[in-house]
This record gives sequence, C-alpha cells and structure tokens, in this order.
Amino acid sequence: MRLKKITAAAAGLGLALSLAACGGGSDDDTPEVDVAESPEFPEGSKMAELSEAGEMTVGTKYDQPGFGLLNLEDVPEGFDVEVAKIIAGALGIEPENISWQEAPSANREDLIEGGDVDMVVATYTINDERKERITFAGPYYVAGQQLMVMADNDEIDSPEVFQDNPDLKVCSVSGSTPAENIRQYLSNVNSQLVEFDIYDRCADSLSNGQVDAVTTDNVILVGFAAESDGEFKLVGEQFTDEPYGIGIEKGDTEFCEFINETLAENEDAYTEAWESTAGQYEGTETPTLPDADACA
Ligand code: GLU
Repeated sequence: MRLKKITAAAAGLGLALSLAACGGGSDDDTPEVDVAESPEFPEGSKMAELSEAGEMTVGTKYDQPGFGLLNLEDVPEGFDVEVAKIIAGALGIEPENISWQEAPSANREDLIEGGDVDMVVATYTINDERKERITFAGPYYVAGQQLMVMADNDEIDSPEVFQDNPDLKVCSVSGSTPAENIRQYLSNVNSQLVEFDIYDRCADSLSNGQVDAVTTDNVILVGFAAESDGEFKLVGEQFTDEPYGIGIEKGDTEFCEFINETLAENEDAYTEAWESTAGQYEGTETPTLPDADACA
C-alpha cells in the first residue's frame, strides 16, 4: 500500500515535469485551494496519518462531466475533485499530492473497505445499505434522479411511461441507487433495464439507439446533455433525493467530523468549487452547503 502510494506520487511528478518540459501544463481554471501549514491533529487519528504522509488517495468518477471527468492530461476535474482538494488542503496536502483512483459506482464500498482509498468523493448517495459497510461525512450536495433522452424524443417524459411501454429500454449504472430505484417503474426489468459499469456507456447506447433513456442523478445528466451538442435532453421532474456524502472507513467518526467541519469552515471555497465546475452548465444552481448528518 505504502509502496503503491509512493509510486503513484512519483508518476504524478513525472507527469508534471513532462508537461512543464513541453511548455504545456493544464489550462486549469479551477480555484486555488488553501493548504494548511503544519496543521496538528490528535495522535493516531486518520488526519494525523494523512497529514504526516503529506499525500492521500481519493476515489472519484472519471466519466462524469462537471463532477469527476478525466482531462486530456489524465487528471480528474469536477466538483467532487474540488471538494476532495478542500479536505486535503485542510490536512496540509497539496492538490498535486493526491493520488486519484477511479471509483465506479459498484466498487466504492470495496475500495474503502479494502483500504485502497482514504476517501471517496464520487456522486455517492448516502443510504442505509451503504452505511452498513462505510461511514459517510456530509451531505455536501443534494441531487435527484431524472431521465435523459434524445432531443427529438417526445414519448418519454416521466418514469411511469416505461410501465405502459414494455419495449422502451432505460440504461443506468450497476451498483447505483437510480438503477435500483427505476426498477419499480418497469413492467419487465430484465428486458427494459440495461446496466453498465460507467455512465459513458449509457450515453453511448442512448446515442446509437440501443436504449431510449438514461437515468441517474440530474446533475450528472446535465453534464452529459451539455457536452452532447444538443443530442440529449433532460425530461420530467426529479423523482428522488440523492444526498451526496464522502465515504470513509466505517466507524471513523473523528475523520467524518473533521471533514464536516472543514467544509463548513470553507463555504467560500465550496461555492467557488461549484461555480468553476458543475456550475458552468446551464440549468444548474449554486448550492448552499447542506447541514451535515451526525457522524456514525
Ligand atoms: N448518486 C447515485 C449513487 O450513488 C448515482 C450516481 C452514481 O452512480 O455515482 O448511486
């Protein structure tokens, strides 16, 4: 684990050097993050461990515009990425010392339980089933499930439409809450629900006509619609609440409370993080940081 972290940090450094060498570098318009200088933490805490190491591993999405999307330099960008940087900064960790790890929906609890990541910030809905395996800080944002269809589709405008039209197919991602929730609206789950591991694949199958709709959180769909050059549109109302939490090792209430306090103390950075990422898309509204749940 330790070796892996060092290797990842070294690889990151190599990338930074090679970019500098070719005069490139990312045209990064994300905000500067405050990095605490020699912060102190209780001995033995996760915060002390990470702060002393000066590096951490964060799981996030790699295919979700606005929240976590790999850029051309293979570095993720988005609101979740910026939220992770705020927390790392409070630990005294520079953004470039974060090792990123892709965290597809179905793998997030495994990554946390296995110690592959120190935290997951990945459009991760807080729910009781997941809480049996991990602890959530937050929520830091509340999304809601919606539907996305081709721009010329005027047949689908609510999840109820699938009940009366068994030929219609909807795509979502395995291990996600929307993939579970949509089932109640389908007359034949086996034939109507198509599941992939990442949302990119759902967007591709909508584009090539293999499915008639994609369902997941509205803010994820907004990103795909905005990047589709008018090919996709969102339809209907949101039909769930999806409070996003930061997943950490189960039972580490100290780290959970630290994360909640950090976000509450950095509301300006939180707002800037939103405005420079997901907030760039039309139809999004700058959120205010929701009150955190009790850590458990
Ligand atoms: N927020 C939902 C979830 O955690 C959907 C988004 C995602 O798959 O990351 O399952």
